Amino acid sequence: MIKSYLMVVKQDEKSENISNTLKEKLKGILEYNENEPDLIISIGGDGTMLHALHEYFHLVDHVYFIGVHTGTLGFYTDYQADEIDELVADIKKGEYTINKRAVLDVQVMDQNGISQYYALNEMRIENPHYTQVLHVYINEEHLETFRGNGLCISTPSGSTAYNKSLGGAVIHPDLEVMQLSEVAGIQHNAYRSLGSSIVLGKEQRVTLTCDRFDGVFIGIDQYSYNLKPFEKINVSLSSHSVQCIQYRPLTFISRIKRSFIS
Ligand code: NAP
Repeated sequence: MIKSYLMVVKQDEKSENISNTLKEKLKGILEYNENEPDLIISIGGDGTMLHALHEYFHLVDHVYFIGVHTGTLGFYTDYQADEIDELVADIKKGEYTINKRAVLDVQVMDQNGISQYYALNEMRIENPHYTQVLHVYINEEHLETFRGNGLCISTPSGSTAYNKSLGGAVIHPDLEVMQLSEVAGIQHNAYRSLGSSIVLGKEQRVTLTCDRFDGVFIGIDQYSYNLKPFEKINVSLSSHSVQCIQYRPLTFISRIKRSFIS
């Protein structure tokens, strides 16, 4: 049963106002609890939802997420800014379904040990300065030696974000898969890689190695870090998932249509 909540709010006037109104309307229905909430309400857009997920990832197995849209796209937000009364009524009614969203487990191994990251949208290895060479293995089997700006591995949730701009496929979020897409891969008679995106499942692990590290960085959702020389990077689907609460039916197809087509 959902008894408590907290809010993660985009730093702008509209989002702050909506958050204050919502807090007022939720009095007597849910208790505001900073430490052990059952529900995290993000007020903003997909960017704010990503911030909320990273900030509270330690609670991910026990907490539900929902978004109110005040951002520019809001692909994963269920309520518009003018639908606060509907959200409050739905919370009061308490009828919902839970949709689990896949998360990537990213492990960077170097001489100091293992650094672990979780990504809800994607992990990227990119180099804006030099042609990046990356050796790509799937379950230890060599697939290709990639040359280009970089590689992106996305979840189904992230398939509509950076992956989509790279020409990758949009993937239904119910599928437990990850997608490897190229960022400006070089394709000619001397250098060639797959060229298209490849979709992999729970049983697969992608391993990346490289020989040159100048200017290369790793991106995890909205964060990016310079990479020190590493031995290898392993990417697989995590045993954790994000639990999105849905109080009213909003199909994936209608989200795609709302955000990208009409
Ligand atoms: P950001 O400004 O927070 O986000 C860039 C745009 O991507 C915003 O319009 C955001 O929507 C949208 N977005 C984020 N996640 C999405 C998803 N799962 N499906 C559809 N749209 C999504 O940028 P950031 O802080 O640098 O990075 C956050 C994420 O944005 C990254 O994980 C990356 O996937 C994406 N991004 C994409 C591109 C690109 O397509 N070329 C470039 C930069 C970043 P809201 O307006 O609702 O927040």
